[in-house]
Amino acid sequence: MNFLSTRGQTPALGFSDAVATGLAPDGGLFLPVALPDFSADLPRLAKLGYADLCFEFMRAFATDIPLTTLRAIVAKSYTTFSAAEIAPLKKLGPDLYVLELFHGPTLAFKDFALQLLGNLYEYQCTVRGETINVLGATSGDTGAAAIHGLLGKPGTAIFILYPDGRVSPLQERQMTCTGAENVFALALDGTFDDAQAALKVIFSNQAFRTGHRLSAVNSINLARVLAQCVYYLYAWLRLPESERSRVEFVVPTGNFGNVLAGWLLQQMGVPIPGFKVATNQNDILYRFFTTGEYRVGAVAPSLAPSMDIQVASNFERLLYYRVGRDPERLLALMDEFKATGRCRVEGWDRGGFTASRCTDADIPGIIRRVHRELGYIVDPHTACGFKALSPGRVSVVLATASPAKFPDTIRAAIGLEPTDPSLDALKVRPVIKHRLRADPATIMRFIAQHAV
Ligand SMILES: *Cc1c(COP(=O)(O)O)cnc(C)c1O
Repeated sequence: MNFLSTRGQTPALGFSDAVATGLAPDGGLFLPVALPDFSADLPRLAKLGYADLCFEFMRAFATDIPLTTLRAIVAKSYTTFSAAEIAPLKKLGPDLYVLELFHGPTLAFKDFALQLLGNLYEYQCTVRGETINVLGATSGDTGAAAIHGLLGKPGTAIFILYPDGRVSPLQERQMTCTGAENVFALALDGTFDDAQAALKVIFSNQAFRTGHRLSAVNSINLARVLAQCVYYLYAWLRLPESERSRVEFVVPTGNFGNVLAGWLLQQMGVPIPGFKVATNQNDILYRFFTTGEYRVGAVAPSLAPSMDIQVASNFERLLYYRVGRDPERLLALMDEFKATGRCRVEGWDRGGFTASRCTDADIPGIIRRVHRELGYIVDPHTACGFKALSPGRVSVVLATASPAKFPDTIRAAIGLEPTDPSLDALKVRPVIKHRLRADPATIMRFIAQHAV
């Protein structure tokens, strides 16, 4: 299986190269040359546990990895989850389920992809006889999940930039209390935008980038999207057959990576009827799916910080399909968006998507209502999914983080403080972070000193 860039200017690459490259050199995102069709396999797949299902799915894409190796990589990636079912589907009421995606090491759904990605990187290091240095910027969950994906892996080091004092104390502990020698949490004296700007400068320095075999960790990596397809498949197969044709997956959304994975799976012959794009108050996607215009807005920090985005980086993949997989039409849209901050897709129809928007004023009330009526505690991101369920549908709300990660918001809403043993264990371990100026030269010096 080969992979092409949405912008059409990059030669097709195999799976491992596309994963190692991350963002295509032409600025586009990788997608499979052709999507496989799983429709005839569904009865057989329904019998598999999570890791076996993931292997059967990934083998259609990762065709350059020997099958026994791929099976071992996938199996290992989900041994770090604390729930036996990996992604438990819980029934909360008639026509209502929650899919718990927070039983990985950092208690958020990003572990599904980043545990696998970490093991894929490790495998590539072994095959190529090279080391790899992973670099990313985070405002919270991604950094922690990426760090736990590479924790202690030989031949790898990971450097995560974050704004000092501006990530939640628990998120910071998840990044800084690992005790692993290959993990470097760099607390910068600036904002998240400063961290991202520094990251851009560092990656645009080709000599530095290739000299240290730097790889980016961000939400556009192809392997992340594919790994996320699997829990939609797993959940859909667990629904009673009578409900499968009425289901709507409700997805708390920021960069569109999570819901894109579900939509891609639908294009692969799994007849999922629809998806709800549930945004917080940073609602570019809500506005797009209700008006057809994609228009940049300002970011207002919210109670659901991992959904605080200005533009949704993975959205380009959906647009690519919607313009008939025509890189020229896509490029024209992206150029227009870059120049004017807006673009409109002609002939847009919702195509199975609904959308909802949830402000900070809504979130505490939703947490209270779900707790009172359903006896279930949702984190502030998952709460956005409960804003407006579609009548007549079976709703499967994706629970993207554990409520234990957001004790202050939960306590303020319902007077209870959810806990998790893994977070309690972190509280007694020393914080190891490196305070640096948010300037590229300083960060590059640090990386050069500590890279593998
Ligand atoms: C990252 C994240 C999201 C948003 O996911 P996208 O793929 O960016 O849409 C939602 N909830 C939580 C808890 C997250 O960490």
